[in-house]
Order: sequence, then structure tokens, then C-alpha cells
Amino acid sequence: MPGIHRSIAYFSMEIAVEPAMPTYSGGLGVLAGDTIRTAVDMNVPMVAVTLLHRKGYFTQKIDASGWQQEEPVEWQAEKFLQELPQRASVELEGRFIYLRAWRYRIRSAGGFSVPVYFLDTDIPENSPEDRALTHYLYGGDNHYRLCQEAVFGIGGVRMLHLLGYEGIKRYHMNEGHAALLTLDLLASEARKAERSAFTQEDVNNVRWKCVFTTHTPISAGHDRFPADLVERVLRYPEIKTMPELFFVDGKLDMTHMAMSLSNYVNGVAKKHGEVSSQMFSRPIDSITNGVHLPTWTSPPMQKLFDKYIPDWRKDNLGLRNALTIPKEELWRTHQEAKQLLFDRIQAETAVSMNPDTLTIGFARRATGYKRAWLLLNDPARLKAMAARHGGLQIVYGGKAHPHDEEGKQIIQKIIQSAGTLAPEVKIVYLPNYGMELRKLITSGVDLWLITPQPPLEASGTSGMKAAINGVPSLSILDGWWIEGHLEGTTGWSIGEPETPGDRTQADLQSLYGKLDETILPLFYNDRPAFVEVMRHAIALNGSFFNTQRMMYEYVLKAYFR
Ligand SMILES: *Cc1c(COP(=O)(O)O)cnc(C)c1O
Repeated sequence: MPGIHRSIAYFSMEIAVEPAMPTYSGGLGVLAGDTIRTAVDMNVPMVAVTLLHRKGYFTQKIDASGWQQEEPVEWQAEKFLQELPQRASVELEGRFIYLRAWRYRIRSAGGFSVPVYFLDTDIPENSPEDRALTHYLYGGDNHYRLCQEAVFGIGGVRMLHLLGYEGIKRYHMNEGHAALLTLDLLASEARKAERSAFTQEDVNNVRWKCVFTTHTPISAGHDRFPADLVERVLRYPEIKTMPELFFVDGKLDMTHMAMSLSNYVNGVAKKHGEVSSQMFSRPIDSITNGVHLPTWTSPPMQKLFDKYIPDWRKDNLGLRNALTIPKEELWRTHQEAKQLLFDRIQAETAVSMNPDTLTIGFARRATGYKRAWLLLNDPARLKAMAARHGGLQIVYGGKAHPHDEEGKQIIQKIIQSAGTLAPEVKIVYLPNYGMELRKLITSGVDLWLITPQPPLEASGTSGMKAAINGVPSLSILDGWWIEGHLEGTTGWSIGEPETPGDRTQADLQSLYGKLDETILPLFYNDRPAFVEVMRHAIALNGSFFNTQRMMYEYVLKAYFR
């Protein structure tokens, strides 16, 4: 039986298992994929559950005016996944919805693997409407989302049972989407005691089994469903006898439910843990995110590490020895990674970039609080400083959510500014960015820029991907950077941690000041000192902000306590 050795069930609405499968939209899915890849490396007995998202997350095209166009992604699940014969069911609105699972195995060289089950309701047993429930990642209205999350959480636990996983000790809910799994666990406890009502003892037993990670301090990022919708859709009248566990202001609140029914709750960086504790008025621990190093290190840099730090894949801590890598060799290796990116830019946009010009990278979801436009806010000043020091190039990328008009306007504004900024500042916007482009960009630029509105960046992982490739960050002090930043040693900060009111002007002055007075002069006039910062980014940040260290913390604090 497959289940005997699996004690951790990891539930995530999106999981990026490989770049060619459009089953993720961004940071959450990539983190989930990195987590599972690390569980494989470390022989952690995990099984993962997610949804199939048959229609994928969209393909981004950008039209002549700079406006984002979304095209559906056609992908064939059959090519990547193995279909399984089991059929689970969930009762919603008085009818049964059936689901099947597709299996993907992430394997290690040593032979250990973690199975990932993709749940799918698109089978003939269901009505056309129900068949679409696992088609769209974050699609549809409230009703669609509630049904989808019921299929995911409740259906997921039942599917694991049907597949023979009897030894699950911990259910890890990666964000609140999976919180309905607690209802199935509560019902099982009650059934065992031959009751239907839930008791405090059931709650205690379920709580002991559950772990919850919250990922966003933005209130709109937390799912809430009106009580009448919940009553109509879900067949769990018992929850009304313990409303304090499930409801906030009369709404079923997925984050609150996951927190009330977990024995361990964490945020994804120290600051995010503190902000979340205040937001939810309860103690919340933190485990700072990381990245899976073999996945995010560029091929040239991998070769360099293999030469000087042969065990780095097995023991990420060994990267502290990056300080012994000769500077000229590190620089040459970085230039190779840069050339890979520039070749791709040339092929896709016909723009040729200069490998000797300081190149800034900014690639992430285009949305208001990430403030992608900050760097371009004073074009005249930016041009002047670029001309004075020797030039500047900027590589942008990122999708806006299909309903995020502001995000699309940001993309358009960036693209339209290219004309104004040329020739001193050269800008490209690479369309349809996903895991593969992300890796090329984070490893191929000279400086990684992060400018969110604090405290909205829970952790951020893009700067970690850059650091491991020897690319220092210039970033607002938010999320992981509060922990990873040592001024002038691992990179540079922008602005003050706490600035009351509108901080745009203050941040802009600080950003331009750092570029003009510190980073551009260092890059063009004192290359060895710049490369010293690159070495420290690898040695201090690469050795710590990785998923191996993160997984040790989950194992110690959450999984096997
Ligand atoms: C790492 C990654 C993210 C997360 O990036 P942040 O800017 O830190 O939020 C998002 N999307 C993709 C494709 C990634 O690889």
C-alpha cells in the first residue's frame, strides 16, 4: 500500500511541478513546488494534493499599445499525469459531485518520490457545470469558489483515503483554500464516536492533526463566504453549533477556520508572523520562506558551485564557502548567465542589450502594491543619472490577474515609457513570464529591484532566487529582506521600515539616491567591490533562504512535534 509511509499531507490550491504545466499562477504555487522538491531531496514522507486546472492559468500576450491580452492555455494533462481509477465524491447542494485523481511523481536521484494528486471533476458522472469546477485557477464567482474549495478540501481528504493513505498524521494547509478539509476530519471523528454532532473532543483531535500557513496580510486575499450560501451548498449543519470556530461577522472565513482548527499556525517571514498576529489577534509563529536551490540556480552558476562547493545540493549551508570563489571567476560566470538572458531577449523582442551595462531586473505579478512604476517615476532624473555613470538597462516581466485593471495599466505605462527613456535607459518587457523566464531574469541581471508597499509583501522569494545566482537586491525593507539585508554587504535597502502616510516620494528619493550615489559608481568604478557584494549574497543569503532550511523548520516545529 502506498499510504503506509506517508504521514504529511500537503494541500495547496496551486503547485508548480514543472514549467510546462500551467497549474500555477505565481508565488504560492512556485513555493509549493519548491517545498515538495525539497521533501523529495530530504526523504520527508509527504503526499501532496492540488486541483488539475484543466484550462490552465492564461498565456499573456501584449498588444501594440502595451495592453495585456489573455489567451487560454490548452494543455493535455494526459501527457504529464497518470490517471487513477478511484472515484471520490462530495455532496453539495443535495447532489453528489464525483472526482478522480491524476498522479505526478516528483523523484530524487536516490529513488525517493513524493506523489502529487491533481483532483479533477471533469468526468461524465457530473453535470456540465460541475465538470467545470476544477477548470479555472481562482476563476468564477463566490459560488464557484466555495464548490471548488469543497471539492479540493473535502474531496482531497476522501481521495487520500480511497488511495490507501491511512497513516496521515498532519494535514498542512498551504493557505486557506484547503480549510474545508477540517470539516471532513471533524465528521470522521464524530462518526468514530457514533455521533453526528461535533464535540470539543473532536475539535481537539482535528486540531492536533492540522497545520496552517497563511501567506498574505492583504484582507481581500482571504476567502469569505456568506452564511446563506454556505448553508445552501455545504451539508454540515453541525458547524452552526460552534460558530466561533468558523464564522467571522456572519461569514464563513477560510483563514479563521484554518487557524481555529490547527495546532500550529505560521506566517512566511518574521515580520509577516508579527503582522498576522496583530491582524488576527492570536499568536502566530513564522517560518521564513526559501527557494529550492537546484531549481533556481542558473546552469553556469551550478557548474561553478560544483567546482568549489561540491556538496552544495545536499547541504545548502555549504554555500557559506562562496566567499572563497575567486572574484574574476564569479564575474565571468555571471556574465555567462547574463548572455543567456540577453540571447532570449534578442530572440523574443529583437532588442539587443549590452552585457557591460548595469542591468536591473523587475519581474513579478503586476499589481498595485508591488509598485513596479516606482523606478520610472522621474524619467528625467533617471536618464540623467544613467548618462552620467555609463548607462542603465531594465528587464521587466510579469502578468496581471485578468480582473486587475490597475495591474494592466502598470504594464502599459512601463512599456510606453520605453520611448521617453531611450537611449540612456533601455527597457524591455518580456511577455508571458512563468518559472522559466523567471529563472533567466533573476540569474541574468546585475541587480534585483523590489519596491512593495510595506507591510504587504508577506515574504517574497524572487530576491532569494536572485541572491543564489549572485545577484544582490535593492529592496524596500519588507518581507524576507528585513532578515536578509545587510547594507552594502548583501545588497541595499530603500527607505525606512516604517513611514507613516504616503511614502512614494520618500521611497523614490531613497531609491534614486542609492542608485546614483552607491550602486552605479560601485558597478562602473569598483567592480571587485561589486563582486564582493555578489559573493555575500550567495554566502549569507543563498545558504539560509532556501527550502532545505525551511523544511527543517517545518519538520521541527510543525510536522513531527
Ligand atoms: C518565484 C516566483 C514568484 C514569486 O515572486 P515574488 O516576486 O517574490 O512574489 C512568482 N512567480 C513565479 C513564476 C516565480 O517563479
